[in-house]
Amino acid sequence: MEQIAVIGAGTMGNGIAHVFAQNGYKVNLVDISQASLDKGMATITKNLDRMISKEVIDGAKKEATLSNITTYTNLKEGVSDSDLVVEAATENLDIKLKIFKDLDEVCKAEAILATNTSSISITQIGAATNRPEKVIGMHFMNPVPIMKLVEIIRGYSTSDEVTETIMGLSKKLGKTPTEVNDYPGFVANRILMPMINESIETLYNGVAGVEEIDTVMKLGMAHPMGPLQLADFIGLDVCLSILNVMYDGFKNPKYAPCPLLVNMVMAGKLGVKSGEGFYDYSESRKAENVSAQFK
Ligand code: NAD
Repeated sequence: MEQIAVIGAGTMGNGIAHVFAQNGYKVNLVDISQASLDKGMATITKNLDRMISKEVIDGAKKEATLSNITTYTNLKEGVSDSDLVVEAATENLDIKLKIFKDLDEVCKAEAILATNTSSISITQIGAATNRPEKVIGMHFMNPVPIMKLVEIIRGYSTSDEVTETIMGLSKKLGKTPTEVNDYPGFVANRILMPMINESIETLYNGVAGVEEIDTVMKLGMAHPMGPLQLADFIGLDVCLSILNVMYDGFKNPKYAPCPLLVNMVMAGKLGVKSGEGFYDYSESRKAENVSAQFK
């Protein structure tokens, strides 16, 4: 594994490119949007500067990391010599299936194709290719340079060899990989999203207010942030879509999204990214406080 391609330069893609490049891998960062590539590179530079100010790395490491990354808007040019592709494009089934179909055509036969999807079936993505044994989930957490976990998801057809390679590679990135099987929500979201949904249900039922629910979970359960604040940070639309994937996948009413969550998403109250969710970010600037906890 020497040459890595990362598809998508957004929130997750630029973090994944950063981590590989900082660990000495040559990274081709591919996005359909030049503006996303520019923004992604600016974010990587800003995060490296923050690491210098905290004396985690020196200036030479920053330059070496940046020089390991090349950007592309053309998929074929970006991936044709890659040993591993990590896809972190927009969470949309049709977009992912098209990307994997294209990757299968233009990548080397031995290349491993990984996806950072939060909720789409690895098995379904693998089935869009002629190499389902080489398709695997590599679910990094946000923010990627900081968070230690990588949830490694085995699709129905993913081979032992590919799983071992990706587990070993994740360790080389300084991460802790954890192997799980491919069922809706994998492990992280299968446990996190019902907790978030239940906290919204608790609010909806009038048991307690936003601050009270978050305080109970922060101070009582030692969570770094309350579930409602975390939902705002993840994006309420993202929470709703993951709950719907689990509801559809298991056909179990325990995953049914709370009507309050559905209403908030319909009203455009998506959390930090829209300026308002359970908290009002335009006034209280809590968004910065939330983000600061991860920096
Ligand atoms: P984002 O919206 O920040 O970035 C997506 C990027 O993909 C954009 O720059 C877009 O231009 C690009 N893109 C869209 N179609 C493309 C294509 N066909 N080819 C190349 N690039 C394309 O999204 P994000 O939050 O970084 O999420 C990316 C993936 O990571 C999703 O699958 C998401 O579920 C997963 N994920 C997100 C988080 C999170 O906290 N944001 C956490 C874990 C996993």
